Amino acid sequence: MTSARYAVFGQPIAHSLSPRIHAAFGAQLGIAIDYRAIEAGHDTFAAALATFTREGGRGANVTLPLKQDAVTLCTQLSERARRCGSVNTLIRDGDGWCGDSTDGAGLLRDLARNGIDPSGARVLLLGAGGAARAAAFALADRVGELVIANRTPERASQLAAQLAARSCAVDALRAQGSFALVINASAAGHADCTFDLPATLFAVSGAAYDLSYGHAARAFLAAAREAGARLAIDGLGMLIEQAAASFALWHGIAPDTTSIHAMLRAET
Ligand code: NDP
Repeated sequence: MTSARYAVFGQPIAHSLSPRIHAAFGAQLGIAIDYRAIEAGHDTFAAALATFTREGGRGANVTLPLKQDAVTLCTQLSERARRCGSVNTLIRDGDGWCGDSTDGAGLLRDLARNGIDPSGARVLLLGAGGAARAAAFALADRVGELVIANRTPERASQLAAQLAARSCAVDALRAQGSFALVINASAAGHADCTFDLPATLFAVSGAAYDLSYGHAARAFLAAAREAGARLAIDGLGMLIEQAAASFALWHGIAPDTTSIHAMLRAET
């Protein structure tokens, strides 16, 4: 029997954990899937997706830097993908692709898994790119107050204006007091850059969450711990949870993520 074809598109993509995560979900549920990583950038994504479609692709994930490009290649968008202007999951639908975004749901699930309840909390979100937008839309209705800060301040104010949120310039963060939850959804750690964050931002006994993981998350999480945050969590769990949500959209059944968290944590 030929396995249905799935893939993750992005650049760089060679080190993506998504093929392993989806293979593990498939093995757990007895579903044969062929899930590959396909390198594509802004200039090559449309052609790569067309080839994948011709070869029988049924579903795909889309990652950095293609989440906004994917919006334009879809014939339909879910409500949450439309609202956050970002697609991380493509589902074959007739002759076209339906785009959805599971990043926000993945973040909420991983926060809950780690015992972090953002309900009613004062939350700071760093970043205003695709992942930050998904996080902001998932959090806005739940939190007590959402403040968004970004390197390019106009992007933070545009995002805040779409939500019940407030934006703040990065260099004015010092005057913002402390937050029960600080979420880093910027890509600063990938460039070995970090915001110069005042320690007072992190409430003692509060939580810090970095959407990135591995080396890219280290500086932010170390700063949070040093400032007294009780929890400092990287985004590996979110990666697994957003993958589980994509898997459920494609196959109609949600995998149990417990063993995958344990497997990937043991390796990092
Ligand atoms: P985008 O390229 O859409 O956005 C990048 C964001 O980071 C922008 O707000 C940008 O600011 C900011 N930024 C980039 N470089 C710097 C820097 N040197 N200093 C300060 N800010 C900077 O990326 P995504 O939103 O898709 O991804 C953001 C992060 O989230 C990445 O680390 C990615 O790996 C992670 N992620 C994790 C997921 C998971 O499942 N764990 C899922 C999705 C993303 P500006 O507007 O000024 O350019």
